[in-house]
Amino acid sequence: MSQVYERVALIGLGLIASSMAHAMRRGGLAGEITGYARSAETRDVAREVGFCDRVCETAQEAVQGADLVVLCVPVGAMGAVAKEIAPALARGATVSDVGSVKRAVIEAVGPHLPEGVHFVPAHPMAGTEHSGPRSGFAELFDGKYTLIVPIEGSDRAAVKRLERLWTAMGATTDEMEADHHDLVCAVTSHAPHLIAYTMVGVADDLGRVTDSEVIKYSAAGFRDFTRIAASDPTMWRDVFLTNKDATLEILGRFTEELFALQRAIRTGDGDMLFEYFTRTRAIRRGIIEAGQDTDAPDFGRVKKG
Ligand code: NAP
Repeated sequence: MSQVYERVALIGLGLIASSMAHAMRRGGLAGEITGYARSAETRDVAREVGFCDRVCETAQEAVQGADLVVLCVPVGAMGAVAKEIAPALARGATVSDVGSVKRAVIEAVGPHLPEGVHFVPAHPMAGTEHSGPRSGFAELFDGKYTLIVPIEGSDRAAVKRLERLWTAMGATTDEMEADHHDLVCAVTSHAPHLIAYTMVGVADDLGRVTDSEVIKYSAAGFRDFTRIAASDPTMWRDVFLTNKDATLEILGRFTEELFALQRAIRTGDGDMLFEYFTRTRAIRRGIIEAGQDTDAPDFGRVKKG
């Protein structure tokens, strides 16, 4: 593969930024990778792991001369970071981000960017429950979607070049409009996370009553909720605060469905439950056929001992 950008600056050096750096290095996609994180501790760890060519002491220093700048901080911090780097951005540079919510990021970042800088928001639909500069790996984006969310008037050449980078990092790209993106993510990611957080919270309350049986026998389904509910609290707080409308819309529908199922259980409506579960099972088959998950039992987990 060949170089897509001469110099890439990563602002925020956690899971996504470090994975991008590893993936860019794997493919030789950037001439130089610079990085910046707000805490000295994270900068030190990033230097130790060595996924950037240079870790800078300020965000402005990191973006100087970069032809691609990627904001990899929590959604609620994007606006302040954009304001900080704006005076140091090179003319003709592309600024992108990896935030899980798009409309709020566009509104927070867009106004700070100077004339002659291209803004191309993006969202890799890949992640783990781990965070920080040690958690990244080159394969994170392989076979996963990255949604590119051009704004009105986005430069087509800048959009295509960013898509080329994501494809070369292993992802499949699709373009999507910001509000549609936020609704799709509310269904596929944001509401499921909130439900997992709730379920784990409920079980924790119950665990106190049943003397930790909830933890002991957690293999049957609950364990998968706990993995999702271990995701970064700052990131997810910001997701819900900035994707409010879409998340509330989906949660409203979820509650209605839950009541319908609750009623079916109460009234002994087995046909309703059977039909419902048949429909949902078909959705799982569709996900596997689309190559988005494994068909192996228990998600292909290897048994210990
Ligand atoms: P992460 O591992 O927690 O790293 C976050 C980075 O942002 C850290 O370097 C942190 O700096 C910095 N940061 C945190 N708060 C900040 C603030 N107020 N101002 C400036 N910098 C701040 O997070 P991540 O998982 O890489 O997520 C980064 C972005 O990717 C988020 O917008 C998230 O929505 C998006 N995303 C995440 C996933 C996922 O599954 N994790 C998937 C797709 C997209 P310090 O270390 O110095 O505190």
